[in-house]
Amino acid sequence: MFYFDPLYLLFAIPGLLLGLYAQFKLSSTYSKYMRVPAESGLSGAQAARRILDDAGLHNVPVEEIPGNLTDHYDPKKEALFLSSANFHERSLSAIGVAAHEAGHALQKQVGYAPLNFRMAIVPVTNFATSASYFILMGSVFLRYMHVIQSSMFSHLMTLGIVLFAIVALFQAITLPVEYDASRRAKEQLFRLGLVSGNERPAVSQVLSAAALTYVAALVTALLQLLYWITVARDRR
Ligand SMILES: [Zn+2]
Repeated sequence: MFYFDPLYLLFAIPGLLLGLYAQFKLSSTYSKYMRVPAESGLSGAQAARRILDDAGLHNVPVEEIPGNLTDHYDPKKEALFLSSANFHERSLSAIGVAAHEAGHALQKQVGYAPLNFRMAIVPVTNFATSASYFILMGSVFLRYMHVIQSSMFSHLMTLGIVLFAIVALFQAITLPVEYDASRRAKEQLFRLGLVSGNERPAVSQVLSAAALTYVAALVTALLQLLYWITVARDRR
């Protein structure tokens, strides 16, 4: 980096700390309940299968993928991918995470609008993520080197900020999608008797901890957006 902006720390640190806390909270809660077997005796894969079959989603496969907490639902392939531990383990953590991913499949089935919107803006977001950094950092550098005029700098920064706002919007729309998937997961787990009344709080804790990581990502994105707005106003 050609120079370091201390102001950046002011905007980066809160998001970073929240992110670290969310990661810590997730890994400690997840590993705690990974050691607690579910009374139903089901593995994560079996619990997800039960929820999907109950909803008539027999054609949605539940597959195993390597990695730690790499679990996800792919709305394009309409398939569930569970990390090896959650696929095989018969624990409250595994069942909770697997059910959450099944919750996304239920969202797809009913055409849950925020999920569709999130899917639709994925390509734009991927482009906006790289383009915004390139434009924002490039503009600051070129202005610093006196290569571009103040008016050109303003135009480029506005473009970069608009692109970065799309990234923040994506993080914002992720929140209702994730909370709703967990809500559906808990509903089905209890309704189908895959989790008992005693086990409810544990499953809720695991899912809340997972959701907190998305809150941290949103806070980080919003603070970065504020940082770039501040830079655009101050560096003219
Ligand atoms: Zn999710």
